[in-house]
Amino acid sequence: MLIRDEAGLRLLRQAQEETRRARQRPSADFHTRKVSEAWERAAKSEAFRGIGEFSWEGFERLPVTSKDRLKQDPWSFAVGELSEAAKYYETTGTSGRVTPTPRHVEDIVWNTVSVAEAWRSVLTTGDRVAVLLPSDIVPVADLVVSVCEYLGLPHTRVYPFAAGISDWDRLAGLWSTLRPTVVFAAPGVLIQLTRLLGGRGTLADLSGSVTKLMLLGEVSTPALRTRIGAWWDATAYDVSYGSTETGTLAATCARGNLHLLTNANYFELTDGTRTVPLPADGTGRLVVTPLNLHARPLLRLDTGDEVEISSTRCDCPEPGSTVVVRGRSTDALCVRGADLSVHAVEEIVYGLTPATGYLIETDAAGSSARLLLERAHGSDRTEEEWAVDAVRRASHERLGLEWDRIAFLNALPATTKSGGSQKSWKRTNIRVVESV
Ligand SMILES: [Zn+2]
Repeated sequence: MLIRDEAGLRLLRQAQEETRRARQRPSADFHTRKVSEAWERAAKSEAFRGIGEFSWEGFERLPVTSKDRLKQDPWSFAVGELSEAAKYYETTGTSGRVTPTPRHVEDIVWNTVSVAEAWRSVLTTGDRVAVLLPSDIVPVADLVVSVCEYLGLPHTRVYPFAAGISDWDRLAGLWSTLRPTVVFAAPGVLIQLTRLLGGRGTLADLSGSVTKLMLLGEVSTPALRTRIGAWWDATAYDVSYGSTETGTLAATCARGNLHLLTNANYFELTDGTRTVPLPADGTGRLVVTPLNLHARPLLRLDTGDEVEISSTRCDCPEPGSTVVVRGRSTDALCVRGADLSVHAVEEIVYGLTPATGYLIETDAAGSSARLLLERAHGSDRTEEEWAVDAVRRASHERLGLEWDRIAFLNALPATTKSGGSQKSWKRTNIRVVESV
């Protein structure tokens, strides 16, 4: 981390004490105080200039900020000069547009502490951590490394696509020495690693030390996590939910549920017309005011994510309701009259077949549908025939979908396993072709 003087140490202590207290026994006025501080910082930006003095009523009257507005003009939300930032990142969203993302020391310390205190229930003393995440330009690997430093866990960055430094062979060699117990990776990269080690016959040996697979950076459905966990004989977690713009909004507990980080965010739900304080249980689009952003404070940001909030889904001791992200409206897909979601499709693909990946091919009108399944190393053809039958039946019963063709092939195109923090299902697993 970036602690280099007394002031930095005080900041870390303050973040640590406040986070621990707010996770256990938040004071009654906790959110009012924190939102008012965020309000005052935000008022210094061009985007929120003129919002006036803080009052809770004024906050609730403030129009929600759309994600598009933030992405169209990210600099108008920034506070201070770039030279005041501690780090500079950029993200490439699903639209392909680059969002500049400066971070102040405060942003980094508060987010690290908030996430680390939540992951304490999963990461434990004695763990050794392999970080298979990209280190350049995007912040994800830096966050994981900061958390490991904060928790005192030995760790190595070992992204297999860091040309000139690392590749699959280097990774396998390092693995034998580090014997990691925890692996952080995007699901796409972990699947590629699984296929590679499976092909070499070393998966059983190299997976032996691993107990926890920490998936992030891409959509991972429960069915996919169960499948990956079975290959590695380990528990696969969807470790966090959030974005580069907002910081981390929810973190996994030891039982694999995402709990909202109410110590670091003030949440609301909207149906598009009415926005209400977060209920203990409910559904809607998540609106967030992050409490600890300094370089780019945000008030009432509409995340665009449809979520389901529950106070009863998990009975672990972690505070905060659980959240399940039901996806974005832009990720809905209709083929041959059937509405498909990533959850429903992967429940079938990873629940019923040994495939290590899949691609849906359709035409522009959505009138045809072909499902291509990627063959796992050493899978036998009888099993494949059985799997194709099972997929056909389940698709008919659960989705009302008749595929034109379902076929296994040896390898899918690389776009299905980019691992480059690709979050759009449509870009990774759907291909529009002229005719199927
Ligand atoms: Zn829990």
